[in-house]
Amino acid sequence: MQKVTSLPTEQLINELQSFGVRLVDPKVGLESRRGGAGPSDHKAVTIDGMTVMVPVHTAPAFDSPYLVEKPDIDGTSRISRDGTILGEVTFPLRPRFYERSTTDGIPYSKIAVLHGRDVLATTILQTCIRYQSRTKTCQFCAIGQSLAAGRTIAHKTPEQLAQVAKAAVELDGVKHMVMTTGTPRGDDRGASILAESARAVKAAVDLPIQAQCEPPEDDIWFSRMKQAGIDALGMHLEAVTPHVRARVMPGKAQVSIEKYFASFKAAVPVFGRGQVSTYILAGLGDTREEILDICARLVAIGVYPFVVPFVPISGTPLESHPAPGSGFMHSILAPLARMLVESGLKAVDIKAGCGKCGACSALSSYERMLTK
Ligand code: SF4
Repeated sequence: MQKVTSLPTEQLINELQSFGVRLVDPKVGLESRRGGAGPSDHKAVTIDGMTVMVPVHTAPAFDSPYLVEKPDIDGTSRISRDGTILGEVTFPLRPRFYERSTTDGIPYSKIAVLHGRDVLATTILQTCIRYQSRTKTCQFCAIGQSLAAGRTIAHKTPEQLAQVAKAAVELDGVKHMVMTTGTPRGDDRGASILAESARAVKAAVDLPIQAQCEPPEDDIWFSRMKQAGIDALGMHLEAVTPHVRARVMPGKAQVSIEKYFASFKAAVPVFGRGQVSTYILAGLGDTREEILDICARLVAIGVYPFVVPFVPISGTPLESHPAPGSGFMHSILAPLARMLVESGLKAVDIKAGCGKCGACSALSSYERMLTK
């Protein structure tokens, strides 16, 4: 495919994730992710061979200088900036497993969805103890929106997940799976339900799995999750300084950064160096230096810090908060990628999960540029 612009790919990805894109045909490609846990209001787009999630439904995207035209007969669309054609992009096709339903009649697409190019992603519990009250909810999260809109179900059973995972591997060649969950009541913070789900999936199909949860109270859950078949673990800080965490995630901020670090240190020997990761949303108020400082601490203990640009999701309290500029992202991701490559913690070596997928950030493109 024709190379897109003379701008280095990683910087173009920063630009697109910062501005979003306008689509002449909003129906092109896969249904965009709207609502749900984690980043949302995106669409998967393949640029220079890399599939990335680009905002299409956010406020900045409606005014983006980037425009994607209707695809031609081969499914290729031209992308332009302020009227100048930059090159071509494509969109991943609708996966075949979306056509199926479970034996109890639930469409597979309500159980798990395709993320990026080859990742199966599910939110096992679509409810969260922190989402019930406006004073506790993470301000960037839309976990309840897709449930309210009927696009998913509240609780995916291990049997349903196993059926969908097997089909996604056999029909669509999915390569790894992300299991996240809203936080339930109880000290395990969701580890138990993640473990039982992973066990069922692994019994049905050989698929690397990343689980994502808050740090469980007891570290014993790390070996239980590992024994159940979970290959990699994400425990997501989201923001890195106490004042920003208290402002944007007042409930989850009660779990201190120190607790996260104690859990990271306990989890790395179980899952391995580079197989424990955290998600950091840049653009919520933490400075470049604060983010890079904590990344250096994480890398030193073998944790992969997956830094992604914050996306203001419609319908959340932060929908009008600006997305970070591409220059800000470049100023973090370029030195972070150097730090990761020099320490031997690379996205390509992660067995499963967001860091491996990399579609929500340009970070892995920066790593690739350094290791070419
Ligand atoms: S990085 Fe994570 S949240 Fe983003 S598309 Fe990939 S699997 Fe999904």
